[in-house]
Amino acid sequence: MENAAKGAESVVRRWLAYALESMVVHEQELGRLDAVAGDGDHGATMVRGLRAAHTAAKEANGSAGDLLVAAGAAFADAGGGASGALLGALITTVGRALSDGPYNLTTTTTALQAGLATVTRLGKAQPGDKTLIDALQPFVDALAGQPADTPLIVAWRTALPAAEAGVAATQTMVAKRGRAAKLGERSFGHPDPGAVSLTYLLQAMSTVWDENHPS
Ligand code: ADP
Ligand code: MG
Repeated sequence: MENAAKGAESVVRRWLAYALESMVVHEQELGRLDAVAGDGDHGATMVRGLRAAHTAAKEANGSAGDLLVAAGAAFADAGGGASGALLGALITTVGRALSDGPYNLTTTTTALQAGLATVTRLGKAQPGDKTLIDALQPFVDALAGQPADTPLIVAWRTALPAAEAGVAATQTMVAKRGRAAKLGERSFGHPDPGAVSLTYLLQAMSTVWDENHPS
């Protein structure tokens, strides 16, 4: 049990390390997507936020949930912008809900549902408004739809295509929230940058687990 809990802390730290690497690789792409109808800063915001979140989780003590709370607060502070505040609150809410574990499909799904509720309350976006919710909600629903005894790693991998399909669906949406809403029509034909980066965060978690458990 103690080892499992320690394992979870290491997973959180490695998730943030890998997510940062992945976001550096995709920084320009996210900036270009955000420039279509927004201000072009989304890649930079994600990299800045994740750099701070990664450092915070490395320096923090406590459970995996505690590390996520620290990482979310640092992300919000450093990231700035709409996505900094919303993703920071998402990560912090998930961390609080997970607390000391256990870390399984049921607790993780409940924590992500709480995170989704927080993002919805703060940002007031609905599914179809072309935001990160259009990737997050289908992913959370796909987790919730699996048998409770499914190993978390397997359930996560199984749910990823739902997030990816959610990103694809944002291409034919017109932005109704955030900065992009002002030039919403321009965003048609392009995926939402926040939905894309959220999916990179979810994929990074799977990559970290795959490295632990090569199949
Ligand atoms: P800013 O719009 O402040 O420049 P970013 O460019 O970093 O922030 O992030 C833009 C992304 O934030 C959008 O692509 C969208 O996914 C997400 N977003 C913006 N407003 C909202 C909202 N009200 N609810 C949910 N997500 C939002
Ligand atoms: Mg922007």
